[in-house]
Amino acid sequence: MRQDHANEDLARPAGPVGRVRLCAGLAAASLVLAACGGDGGGGGGGGGGAAEGYPDGDITFVVPFSAGGPTDTVTRLIAEPMGEELGASIVVQNVEGAGGTVAAGEVSAANPDGYTVLMHHIGMSTAPSLYADLAYDPLVDFKTVGLVTEVPMTIVARSDFEPGTMAEFVDYVTENSDTVTLANAGIGAASHLCGLLLQEALGVKLTEVPYEGTGPALTDLVGGQVDIMCDQTTNTTGQIQGGEIKAYAVTTPERVESLPDLPTTTEEGLDDLQVGVWHGLYVPAETPDEIVQKLSDALKVALADQNVVDELAKLGSTPSSEDDATPEAHTQRLEEQIELWRPIIEDAGVAPN
Ligand code: ASP
Repeated sequence: MRQDHANEDLARPAGPVGRVRLCAGLAAASLVLAACGGDGGGGGGGGGGAAEGYPDGDITFVVPFSAGGPTDTVTRLIAEPMGEELGASIVVQNVEGAGGTVAAGEVSAANPDGYTVLMHHIGMSTAPSLYADLAYDPLVDFKTVGLVTEVPMTIVARSDFEPGTMAEFVDYVTENSDTVTLANAGIGAASHLCGLLLQEALGVKLTEVPYEGTGPALTDLVGGQVDIMCDQTTNTTGQIQGGEIKAYAVTTPERVESLPDLPTTTEEGLDDLQVGVWHGLYVPAETPDEIVQKLSDALKVALADQNVVDELAKLGSTPSSEDDATPEAHTQRLEEQIELWRPIIEDAGVAPN
């Protein structure tokens, strides 16, 4: 399931997530223990001088979905300026599977030395309600680094899907619910959650087609192998503008500047169909606070980078504010979103596995 993206600078071939295997294999040697985080698995809190000399090697950013998809796109965009700020190369590694929970599980168990960082989205807050056997607790097994972006979602379809407007879409999907196929990136992915709300709003049950990320799902939507999907503007904007797919609505209260003609779901009378996707960076829970702070500071610099701001704007996304790119704001968002999504998921009748 792991896919290393062959993009020169940002994605070198990477082995197991972070230094887990290297450190575990060499744990007997005290010299190596120092390189692997001092006490071989912890350090936790503040830790005087814990960030001294950090970073002194490549940092791996783990993306829980396929290369080329929206989470991957945002990660690669910030990786370069963050790496420049930190004075290190950032390697992007795609670890796919189970709506992002495979990657999160691997990072939660990685060495807490700041060299393994997870980029995840809203799925971090929904997984506890969706997976009974989750290998990690988002609030216990990670430290938050900061929020990264806010991204609207779009309701899209293959270019020859019959309906022309959102109202027609509602009628058509309702009448043809036994044949319409809905792509998503696995249980707990943003596309899955948005799809759940869409089916709730329309009172239908569609055939869901899971992918390892919405990068490949979009390829199939363009190719006409699947009918409809909910996905982030960071993945769909280009294809909507190029006419390769049809778009019906955006799922945030405000219209998106880069897609000004697209109505909001609220305008279309679908008030409950609201999903704003947020991304954040995480490290294993025992990572020293000083390292977390270094990463958070570099994140703030990256989010103020003009190229990042411009590229995100083109894709309908907003970088998180300086105040939000902090562990405190990120933890608060995570806690709030876990509480927000639990009843929605329960009401949707999605039984935990
Ligand atoms: N956009 C996907 C989702 O539905 C994830 C991805 O491929 O980045 O969550």
